[in-house]
Amino acid sequence: MGKLNRVKVKIFIIQERFVFLSPSVQSGWEDESNISDFEVSKKCLGKGAFGEVFKVTHKKTKLIYAIKILDKADLKQYDMVNQVSLEIKIMYSLTNPYILRLYNHFEDDKKIYLVLEFATGGQLYKKMFSQPTHRFNETTTASYIRQLIAALKKCHSMNIIHRDIKPENILLDDKNRIKLADFGWSNYLSPNSKRSTFC
Ligand code: ATP
Ligand code: MG
Repeated sequence: MGKLNRVKVKIFIIQERFVFLSPSVQSGWEDESNISDFEVSKKCLGKGAFGEVFKVTHKKTKLIYAIKILDKADLKQYDMVNQVSLEIKIMYSLTNPYILRLYNHFEDDKKIYLVLEFATGGQLYKKMFSQPTHRFNETTTASYIRQLIAALKKCHSMNIIHRDIKPENILLDDKNRIKLADFGWSNYLSPNSKRSTFC
């Protein structure tokens, strides 16, 4: 068997597609996912300007993820559709131990869904404020900063700028490793150019 046989995959018929099909669907590896493929826990992990994030279990594989759910009407109203496409494209391209992985995405008529690595430790912000002094000691701080620099080095090596670095967007995994998240304001920056959009 020389060539890989591409199988026809199923995609959903929806009124208006806002973003490109996920790489796994485009390459013919799997059908487009649907929110009914997941068991969604009731507890919301976090809320942002356009999205709500929930812990989910993929019914077939029992794997756990976090799903960020974005409302299409809100995105359209605030002219954020292109920015979300960019967020998705950029996240797929970044594979690094200190950057939150995007595994898949799909959409229906109302929402766009981002299937993300689940960061069990939650926000660095919350961890910081759970310390008796509301701050980390120098050794812990140095370790987090070192990891953040490694994440930013990866981004910048690909001409990607995050533009929303703050403790709320730095998440932690079960090994207390940082996972840089929320590329909702990120963009490409070519050397010698400046960006002028608000963020
Ligand atoms: P913002 O208003 O900051 O732009 P947003 O809508 O883009 O927010 P995120 O910042 O990506 O959303 O997520 C909101 C919050 O949800 C995070 O601060 C975090 O608390 C939680 N969260 C997001 N992704 C995950 C994840 N993969 N695992 C665990 N918690 C997460
Ligand atoms: Mg955020």
